[in-house]
Amino acid sequence: MAKNLIITGTGGQIGRAFVSHVSQKAGFNIFACDKEPQSPFDSANVTTVELDITDESQVSMFFDSIDCVDVLINNAGIGTFTPFEQRTVEEFMSVVDVNMKGTFLMCREAIKKMKVSGSGKIVNVGSVYGVVSSDYRIYGDSKRNNSEVYSMTKAAVIMLTKYLAAHYAKYNIQVNAISPGGVMRSQTKDFLSNYSNRTPAGRLAKESDLLPALEYLISDENVYTNGHNLVVDGGLTAW
Ligand code: NAD
Repeated sequence: MAKNLIITGTGGQIGRAFVSHVSQKAGFNIFACDKEPQSPFDSANVTTVELDITDESQVSMFFDSIDCVDVLINNAGIGTFTPFEQRTVEEFMSVVDVNMKGTFLMCREAIKKMKVSGSGKIVNVGSVYGVVSSDYRIYGDSKRNNSEVYSMTKAAVIMLTKYLAAHYAKYNIQVNAISPGGVMRSQTKDFLSNYSNRTPAGRLAKESDLLPALEYLISDENVYTNGHNLVVDGGLTAW
C-alpha cells in the first residue's frame, strides 16, 4: 500500500525539488502543502494542498482529512533580512510563527497519527545557521545578512527534533533533521564568491545535494538513526 508522505513549503525552491524527487519513487502518496501553492506538480501521486502551517485549525482539519501519516517533511521556513537593531517584535514573531509554531503543530498532529499506526518518520529542515552563527563577512552589501531570529528558530527546530526522537522512539517513530548550507539561487556575484571561498566544497549547495540525505532519512532501512541533525553544507561548519 502507498505510504502517505506530507511535505510543507512545496511552493519554494527546496520543497519543489523534494517533491519532484520523492514523486519519482514508487510507493508514496504525496501531500504537497504550502500557504501559497505554485504551479501544480506533474505527477499523479502528488496532491497539492493549500495549508498555512501556523493556523492550528487549518492544520487540524488537514490531518483529520487523512487516515494515516507515514512520513512528514517539515520544510516550510522563512527568514528576515533587516538589521538586528531594527528588528520589530512583529517581524521577530512572524519568523517564530512559521519556523517554530508551524513545525511544532505539524509534528504534534503527525505524531498522534503515527503513534496509532505504530510507525513514522519525520524530517525537519533546519539550517547550518541553527548550528553556527552566520559569518557576516560573506554578506557584504548584499542586504541578505542572516538574522538572529532565523538562527534562533532553526536551533529550536533541531532541538525539537532531538526531543521528539527521544520521546517517541518507543513508538517506532524516527525524527531527524537536515541542515542545509546556503543553496544557490539569484545571489549577488560578491556573495557567491565570498560564500564559496568560505566553504571547503568551494560552492553553494544545489537542491540535488540535499536529496541523498532526505532519501536516507525517510527510507525503510533507516530504523536506527534518530535525533540526528544531518548537516549538508559542503563542509562549511567543519572549520
Ligand atoms: P523558499 O522561500 O523558496 O520556500 C519556502 C516556502 O514555504 C514558500 O513556498 C512559502 O510559501 C512556504 N511557506 C512560508 N510560510 C508558510 C506557512 N505559514 N505555511 C505553509 N507554507 C509556508 O525557501 P527554501 O529556500 O526552499 O527553503 C526551504 C527550507 O530550507 C526552509 O526551512 C529554509 O529555512 C531551509 N533552508 C534554506 C536554505 C537556502 O539556502 N535556501 C539554507 C538552509 C536552510
